[in-house]
Amino acid sequence: MPLVAAYHRPRNLEDALSLLAEPDHVVLAGGTSINADRDASDIEVVDLQALGLDAIVADGNRVRLGAMATLGSVAESGLIPEWLQTISRAESPSTLRNLATVGGSVATRSGESLFLAALLVSDAHVEMAGADSQSLAALVEHGVPDGAIITAVSIDASGTGGEAITGRTPADVPIVAAVARTADGRTTLALTGVAATPVLADPNNPTAGLRPPADFRGTAEYRLMLAQTLSERAVEAAR
Ligand SMILES: Cc1cc2nc3c(=O)[nH]c(=O)nc-3n(C[C@H](O)[C@H](O)[C@H](O)COP(=O)(O)OP(=O)(O)OC[C@H]3O[C@@H](n4cnc5c(N)ncnc54)[C@H](O)[C@@H]3O)c2cc1C
Repeated sequence: MPLVAAYHRPRNLEDALSLLAEPDHVVLAGGTSINADRDASDIEVVDLQALGLDAIVADGNRVRLGAMATLGSVAESGLIPEWLQTISRAESPSTLRNLATVGGSVATRSGESLFLAALLVSDAHVEMAGADSQSLAALVEHGVPDGAIITAVSIDASGTGGEAITGRTPADVPIVAAVARTADGRTTLALTGVAATPVLADPNNPTAGLRPPADFRGTAEYRLMLAQTLSERAVEAAR
């Protein structure tokens, strides 16, 4: 049984927004998450691939990542700082990262996404059609507004970034990871694996207020210990 009940490929944003206003219509980007299983559903997908949202362009001190740019293209773009290229490349194997998009990664809000943590410390702003632009931190907290389309994510590409991770194997999705960035003498820090979404944390007190989930890979206490140690390492790496 196919997952989707119907497929739409609008030619402009206006048509895409009209389709999304109808019941059971959802955005299709790379499809790695939304099309990942074969359960029956009433979902009608609105494919954004004809809307020209895949460009990565410099915008003053910032870089604007089109929502349909793939993680693979981010990893290869000369406009992206090397530390962020590395994180984009490590996010998933080539088969997935050449499909998965910037917009899809933001909308999915996976608590294990290092890419999202890297965007969070890069002062990311999310541009949308059908809703006002907002900071990535706000969007990660509340989700994409109903019927809206992420069109781009703009980041501050200045400064130095670094990460520290612990996983079952070096290539596995980290149990906990810390990503830090230092720009203009100020360090920002984000953590994965400690909440339902990646979270910004205080570099001087990274575990404050955290209540990590527990699973077969680690207890809440273990994750808190990792968060403390990895934060110190990531902050050091971002100097
Ligand atoms: C085997 C496997 C491993 C994975 N590993 C990881 C991992 O390690 N880390 C991780 O973070 N994720 C992982 N994922 C999840 C998934 O690959 C990512 O979340 C991916 O970035 C989703 O991007 P996409 O473009 O494929 O989105 P899609 O699957 O097309 O869409 C995902 C969701 O986002 C919405 N959406 C997409 N684009 C937009 C937009 N522009 N505006 C508004 N809403 C939008 C869709 O409606 C849908 O709800 C994995 C998935 C699979 C199948």
